[in-house]
Amino acid sequence: CARTASLAGNNMLVAVRMRPLSRKEIQGGEKSCCQVVGNKIVAITKAKRPGAVLKSEMGSVNEYQFDEAFDEKVPQIEVYKRTAARLIPSVLEGFNVTVFAYGATGAGKTHTMMGSERMDAERATGAEGGQTCGIIPLTLIDIFKGMKQKQAEADLPDEKWSLSVSYLEVYNEKIRDLLEPSGINLPVQEDPKAGIVGVGGLAKRTAANSDQVMELLRYGNTNRRTHATDANATSSRSHAVLQIIMSQSWSNSKGKNITRESRVNLIDLAGSERAGKTNNRGKRLQEGANINRSLLALANCINALAQGTTRKNAKYRDSKLTHLLKSSLEGQCKLIIIANINPSDQMFEDSHNTLKYANRAKCM
Ligand code: ADP
Ligand code: MG
Repeated sequence: CARTASLAGNNMLVAVRMRPLSRKEIQGGEKSCCQVVGNKIVAITKAKRPGAVLKSEMGSVNEYQFDEAFDEKVPQIEVYKRTAARLIPSVLEGFNVTVFAYGATGAGKTHTMMGSERMDAERATGAEGGQTCGIIPLTLIDIFKGMKQKQAEADLPDEKWSLSVSYLEVYNEKIRDLLEPSGINLPVQEDPKAGIVGVGGLAKRTAANSDQVMELLRYGNTNRRTHATDANATSSRSHAVLQIIMSQSWSNSKGKNITRESRVNLIDLAGSERAGKTNNRGKRLQEGANINRSLLALANCINALAQGTTRKNAKYRDSKLTHLLKSSLEGQCKLIIIANINPSDQMFEDSHNTLKYANRAKCM
């Protein structure tokens, strides 16, 4: 790929984060097959098949380059600084920003976005200590800080800054409100005149500080759907979408109230592993197909966005996830993809697929 995406250039940043192997994985004899070289390259090694004769069984190393690559020792705060933190000034200027955590179940998406609640004594090789706040709380802290400053410097008549949040999940191609759960599949509504796409009837809560938002998130998470499958006790089969809506309002010369909004979408995507692997049948398999549909549609939209000129042609309606994000993805948006990988040799296929997905998002 000749072109490397950068936020300055085309408003998209692709990062890969590799988590440490857990003590249990090491004790179980799992070995790492991934290596972060410097801070941009990830190498993944396919092991030689025992007794291999065919060339395709001989093992190989593939290298991929990204805008940022984080090894297992990079702490949360640094991941944040080298990704989402770079977009805070844009958010305060009115841009829409979206951050996706992509990867197989267990690869570290939730850790990256939310952080882990407790210190993880299980980790044998992770350098991370008590600092476990992920991108969501760190972003919120900076947005509130920035808003306070803007409010203090306000020079427009009646200028007011405020923040509200919505929290939803896309499960089996249905949209569910996590703050006001109703069992209703909420519709994506387009207002072509205003050029806005939104989720109809979605609850919106105002918040005065990051703690209040985190409280709402914890409540919302208790409403998330999780299902036991063969592969994981509680595998994450839904996309969790936190929408932060920041508004600035003021009175114009005629005394009319004007509002400018910017949105930050922070998204913990469903596990990217293939449905087949979990040995599921019937309903679960259908879910898997739909999850892949959203992830596939997302990849296709991101590819279209990466080309820059074809933003309008991206097929947002192909999945609920891309459709509801349409306003945030097209036009003047800024995107960050953090692809998470578990370095275990047992997870070679998933990790390799994740690297290829992230690489595809970066180049065309
Ligand atoms: P996912 O959300 O992708 O399914 P999790 O975020 O739940 O994965 O991560 C799986 C496990 O690995 C959790 O126990 C989590 O605390 C741990 N983990 C993930 N990433 C890291 C990391 N960078 N450092 C230490 N532990 C991590
Ligand atoms: Mg998770």
